[in-house]
This record gives sequence, C-alpha cells and structure tokens, in this order.
Amino acid sequence: MLLLALVPMWAFVLGEIRHERALAGAAARKDAMNLATAFEAHVRSTIRLMDIVLLDMREDVLEQPDDFQNHVKEELQAYGSFVSQLGVIDASGQLVFSNLAPISKPIDLSDREHFRVHRDNPQADRLFISKPVLGRLSHRWSIQFTRPIFDGGKFAGVLVLSVPADLFSDYFQQIDVGANGSIVLLGTDRSIRAIASAAPIPGRYGRLKLPEDKPYFVDGARVGFYEGVSSLDGEYHLGAYRRLEDEGVLVLVLLSPKDFMAAFEEHRKLLIVSASIISLLLLAVALLIYAFSRRHFRNTARLREAHEQMTQLANTDVLTGVSSRRSFLAGCEAELSRARRHGEDVSLLMLDIDHFKRINDTYGHPIGDEVLTAFTATCSRVLRAHDLLGRLGGEEFAIALPSTDLEGALSVAEKIRRAIAEAPIPTSAGPIALTVSIGLVSSPAGRDDLQPLLAKADGALYDAKQNGRNRVCAAREGGVAGG
Ligand code: GH3
Ligand code: MG
Ligand code: MG
Repeated sequence: MLLLALVPMWAFVLGEIRHERALAGAAARKDAMNLATAFEAHVRSTIRLMDIVLLDMREDVLEQPDDFQNHVKEELQAYGSFVSQLGVIDASGQLVFSNLAPISKPIDLSDREHFRVHRDNPQADRLFISKPVLGRLSHRWSIQFTRPIFDGGKFAGVLVLSVPADLFSDYFQQIDVGANGSIVLLGTDRSIRAIASAAPIPGRYGRLKLPEDKPYFVDGARVGFYEGVSSLDGEYHLGAYRRLEDEGVLVLVLLSPKDFMAAFEEHRKLLIVSASIISLLLLAVALLIYAFSRRHFRNTARLREAHEQMTQLANTDVLTGVSSRRSFLAGCEAELSRARRHGEDVSLLMLDIDHFKRINDTYGHPIGDEVLTAFTATCSRVLRAHDLLGRLGGEEFAIALPSTDLEGALSVAEKIRRAIAEAPIPTSAGPIALTVSIGLVSSPAGRDDLQPLLAKADGALYDAKQNGRNRVCAAREGGVAGG
C-alpha cells in the first residue's frame, strides 16, 4: 500500500521537475534571443549613424578643407558624447587632423589596422569597424569607424571616427542579463569589441581573442543558440548570437543558469521537501498500522491457541486421556452418517467395570483412578486405530466400531472382556484382578439414530450384569441376547 502511494507520487514529482527544468531552459533561450535581437538593432543603428557622419564629413574634407575644422566642431556638437575624436590620416599614414588638438608634429598611424585595410584595398569604398584600440592622442579605449578618402579616384587617406568602447558596453549595462550573464559585441576576427557584464571580466578589450571553435564562428548561420563553458569567465552559459554580416561583427548574449534556473531551483527544493515530508508521514502511518495489526494478529493467534486447548480439554477425558462423553457422542454421529453414505455397518459397545465400588472401597479412590486409566490402555491395545473409545462417566465406557457388523463386534467385545479378565491390572498397590460387562448393538448400514442405539446397548449391558457379569450381551430386535 505504501509503495502504491509513494511510487506514483515520486514519479509525478520527478516528472514535474524534469518538465519545469525543460521549460526554464526553453524560456532562457527565448530571452537570450530576444535580448540579442534588441541588441543587434541598437548596434546596427549606431553603426548606421556613424557611417552617415563619416560620409558627410568625407565630402567636406575634400570640398571645403579650409572650413573643415569649424564644420567638424558643429557636427560633433550634434553627436555629443558618442564620438570621442574625428581624425584624418593622409595617404602615407600620418595623422594630419584631429579635432582634439592641433597636430604640431605628425603622428604615425600607418601601422594601424584601420589605416592598412583601406590602403591595401584602394578599390573598396567601405566602412571598417576596428577592434578597440588605445588612442595615441585621446589615450582612451575606442573603436574606430573608418572610410577611405579618394582624391580624383586615388586613395588619399582615411577618415577616422573614434567611438568610446563604453558607448556599447554602457548601453548593454542597462540591460538586465542577470548577475552572471553578459552581452558581448564581437568582431568576426574573434576579438571583443565591447562587453557588458555584472561580473568583472579580465582584460576587457583589445588583447582578448575568443577560441575559433566557438559555434558562432564555425557555423555559417546568421542567428543561432549556443551552450557551453564561456572562455570569458569559465562558467557554463546558455546564449544566443546574431551576426551583422556586412559590419563584420556579431552580438552574443550569454545567460547563466545560476540566474535563470534560480526560481526553478527554489520550486524544485520545495517540491522535494514536500514530497519527502509526505513520504515520511505515510511511512509513519504504515509503521503504526503494521505495529497494530501485528499485535492484533498475535492476540488472535493466542486466542486461537487457547481455544484449541480448550476444545482439546473439552474433547478429552482428563483422567484417562480417551474421548470425553461429548466428543465421543459427536464422533458416533459422524461415524453413523458416514456409514449411511457408504452403506456400511457400525457397532456400538457399552462397557461397565464390575463391582468397581469395591475397588474404591478396598484400595482407595486414587488407586481406583489408576485402574480406570489402565483399563482404557488395555482396551486401546485391542482396538484398531479408527475405533472410537470414550468415557461416558464414572467407570462406564463406550466404543464405536466403524465398518463392523454384529459378528465382528461380538469378537472385539469378547477380546476386551478376556484381556481384562485374564490379566490383573498393575497398580501402585499391586496387581488388581478385574472383570468387565459389555453390552453391544449393531446398526446395519448405519440406519439407526444414535439415541436408540445407545439405549439398546445400555439394555444389553444391563442384561450382561443381570446374567452374572464378566460377559458380553448383544441387543436384538425386540430383545437382547447373551453371548
Ligand atoms: P456394578 O458391577 O453393578 O457395576 O458395580 P459397581 O460397584 O461398579 O457399580 P456402581 O455404579 O454402584 O459404582 C460405581 C462406582 O464408581 C461408584 C463411584 O464411587 C466410582 N467412581 C465413579 N467415578 C469414579 C472415578 O472417577 N474414580 C474412581 N476412583 N471411582 C469412581
Ligand atoms: Mg456403573
Ligand atoms: Mg460398575
């Protein structure tokens, strides 16, 4: 019963936990993708804005070089803190203009990637977004948005818009990705452009390069999910990425199970604690029931034993150990009906010890008792296993002989009479000679009732006594005959 209750309950609880875990995981994936989508839109519009500024400025640097300084000032005022510097690099890689400070001596930037990429591909008029670099003039970590400048179809230099890397990370920082999550803007060159994370990340920009086996580098997919140990903090994360193909960047949102599984973990603990308490209560109830029923069964067994003992006592004569009167009469009834079913004869003997009173008077009552016991022992020796011997009372006994006709009964009775008469009974007062009178009756095919049979046997016994004792008398139809 306990198992019947506990097994389905635990199956339900574990199933529920598995289901909720799957739900929490699915919800986190969805959240990560939603965040990545919003984030992608922001990156895309920022890049677009920067490119508009660059294209606008590029015209001016060629058409109104004298008024360029003022124009830059105006333009940058409009974009405020988005832009930290606007610079112009000439075809040889020297910084020839910066809005930050007048250039007293040229600053060589020919080694910078954002210069080389344009110089080495003079045909391609495209926007380039660099990884964060530490500005040689601004001394700030910034991302460079660059466009090549052409003069009469020839490469004439590079226009550089420096945007603080914080522009992205500050925006990302406002988005709640949990205490252990992070948002990363990655270049397809595997270097981090910007990152926002509640947990501090070593080597924020620049030198950190992500392993190339990450699925968002390996897979060609524009959007996708990612699950694994992050190389940023060594923690397991679930994430979503979106690639901005033309811009050569991708956004990656990493969520931590520590955050998105927290509510699930709480609920799981609650479920398990509740189920455990219920299990313990059920177990306690089962133990109580077991203890009570054990006691009950033990008591019942004791009662049954006592009952059997009492029945045994009631069915047995205490002195001689043969059947009591009650048990003997019940046995006779059963024997008669059995004989009736099988059409067999049954015979009944009634025995009374002769002058027993004298034995009591001569040797005392206890010796009389010994004689009674020895008498039944002698009878039993003569009888077959299925013959029934009972004490009807005092020194009067009866014997039922199944499957025995009158003739057979006479022979048994005679054997008993002789056995008693010929061998004195040994007692503690010495051997005592004894005789017995026997009346008998036979019921062919067991057709008589018990009471008339007993009466007839009694009558035959009376005759045996009347005719001088120590003899066997058979009852006859309408009378009794001696034997
Ligand atoms: P009879 O030949 O006519 O049968 O003579 P009897 O003396 O045997 O007959 P009676 O019925 O007058 O006496 C039976 C005696 O058996 C009387 C009684 O004291 C004695 N008696 C009955 N039950 C017991 C018993 O359990 N133990 C002993 N020792 N004597 C018993
Ligand atoms: Mg008697
Ligand atoms: Mg007697």
